Amino acid sequence: MHRGGVGQSERANARDDGRLTTVNRDRLGDALQRQGAEMFPGLIEYNFQHKLVGLDFEAKEASFEQTGGQGVVKRPYELLVGADGVWSGVRGEMERVGFVTVRQKRNTGGLKVMEVADLPGSEEGWERCWHLWLRHSPRIAIMGSPTPEGRYRLAMGTWYDDWCGDLDQFKTEAGVEAIIREKFPDVFEGREMPDGLARGLVEEEVSHNGVETDCSAFHAGDAVVLVGDAAHSVWPNAGQGCNSALESCRILAGLIAEHGGQLAKALPAFTAMRKPDTDAAAAMSRRAWLTPQHMLRVTLLNGLHRALPFVFGMPAEELLRLGEGSYAKIEARHRWQNRQILMMVAGALGLAAFALVRR
Ligand SMILES: Cc1cc2nc3c(=O)[nH]c(=O)nc-3n(C[C@H](O)[C@H](O)[C@H](O)COP(=O)(O)OP(=O)(O)OC[C@H]3O[C@@H](n4cnc5c(N)ncnc54)[C@H](O)[C@@H]3O)c2cc1C
Repeated sequence: MHRGGVGQSERANARDDGRLTTVNRDRLGDALQRQGAEMFPGLIEYNFQHKLVGLDFEAKEASFEQTGGQGVVKRPYELLVGADGVWSGVRGEMERVGFVTVRQKRNTGGLKVMEVADLPGSEEGWERCWHLWLRHSPRIAIMGSPTPEGRYRLAMGTWYDDWCGDLDQFKTEAGVEAIIREKFPDVFEGREMPDGLARGLVEEEVSHNGVETDCSAFHAGDAVVLVGDAAHSVWPNAGQGCNSALESCRILAGLIAEHGGQLAKALPAFTAMRKPDTDAAAAMSRRAWLTPQHMLRVTLLNGLHRALPFVFGMPAEELLRLGEGSYAKIEARHRWQNRQILMMVAGALGLAAFALVRR
């Protein structure tokens, strides 16, 4: 786990005030596995290289294809939790049988990910921080995160432009090198770029950096339930995908305990409780967060909140950052604050018009 700041300019790690915690996903996966084995010794069996290929909802049996041509194995289940990501096979089966309807929407941005041994311009402490370099014309960013192996994972992405269609510069090694030198001189502090980075960024497949999944329900009957991206993937703008996935797991476990293990009650309760929040998380993730307009809005609301806390609550974006309140409440606060800003602007225009008429 790395506690560190987010920077948008030269000294990307300057704000080391612990305002943001980032977790490397490999480490998170390891930690969850280890903790599971410690908490429930002998009760958890991990089977890797098994791909879900079919579900029999009546017989409560799942079929998995083993990699390496070792055939298909069938496993019975009492509760099947589909945590198999944005292209979930479990959700696909639920849709096929008619338990749910699903809509997915990709954003236009593209992303290429490369690992480098080190960042030639890095300073002491960078290996503990998550870094963000944002540029506005073209709108492109590099995110850098240290890996447990002591390397850096660099994700270069466009937010609104289609990587292949709109940005010709990325089609050749020389183009990529030129754009990095011109737009991100602070990443490498004018030193040589790591070997192979430009080539890798040209050759690497572009992935969509966001797919939103709107699933009509998260459960099927009394034995199958979806969590995480399988149920409610969101665009990455607000950084809530993994957060909401972990929260869904906590809430599902709580509801199963609360209903004394009666899945016929706990699973529908999960959909009912969770759907409004994950819909709100999707709505906030659709908005562009890293834009001057957005930052202006937050700065204005922060100032108003400090000056008149009884009239202006803490900005919704701050509540999200602090993890205070549900997604639905935070989204409602966002909408209310939009209305407050509109009322202020309308009031100011009204006063200005009144003053003009009086002159
Ligand atoms: C560019 C980008 C930036 C992001 N930034 C953030 C961020 O800042 N903060 C944040 O909270 N989230 C972020 N996310 C989102 C986050 O990565 C996901 O929300 C999170 O990984 C979801 O976890 P999951 O366990 O539901 O799915 P996944 O992590 O996708 O795991 C699904 C697993 O299921 C396996 N699987 C798939 N199909 C099958 C099958 N048929 N059978 C068996 N296994 C299968 C996969 O191999 C995988 O191991 C970002 C995502 C992207 C793309």
